Amino acid sequence: MRATQVFHTYQPVQTVADSSRFRYCCACAAPLPLTSPEKPHPFCPACGWTLYRNPAPGVVILITEGDLVLLGRRGGEGNYGTGKWCLPGGYIEFGEDFLTAAIREVREETGLEVEIQSLLSVMSNFLKPGLHTLVVVLKAHITGGAFLAGDDLTELAWYPLAGPFPDMAFEADQSIISYVHATGFEGAPVDREYAGGVCHDLAL
Ligand SMILES: [Zn+2]
Repeated sequence: MRATQVFHTYQPVQTVADSSRFRYCCACAAPLPLTSPEKPHPFCPACGWTLYRNPAPGVVILITEGDLVLLGRRGGEGNYGTGKWCLPGGYIEFGEDFLTAAIREVREETGLEVEIQSLLSVMSNFLKPGLHTLVVVLKAHITGGAFLAGDDLTELAWYPLAGPFPDMAFEADQSIISYVHATGFEGAPVDREYAGGVCHDLAL
């Protein structure tokens, strides 16, 4: 089975940071000059701040019990994929390592405590204009906690790894579940000495 790691939900176009959407410096509020193809990143002549737009980094976590995988139903008004299902996960905070982020997101969304076992994949998602993510997919096993949906999830359920799946919010989630099921892939080792909740320097 082929590994798939780039997903488009719309036809992407080559774009750069667009000064028409960013008119004032977010550091000092001075007006930003127009960008050009040669200088595509908005630059503030008053304070030297430059806007680099990047995909948002996130984590998703594959938690299995036998032949079942844990999925959650997405809540939140206006969130991407509200009402559809996904693997637990979320965005990595500034100053947070991705392994700690995964443990935190699982705790917030499922009430479960987990240990990260392995790195399964990294995926680019072009979800809609203005929402691009780079997602680290991790495998984890449950070490404790309660089974209680929270934060962005309204409901939790176990589904067969072989499917059929409910209406999924992210093609990437379904792809990695099917890949792991078809190949038995266990993933690459993860750093056992990771920061584990240490918050790094948050200064700008
Ligand atoms: Zn500025």
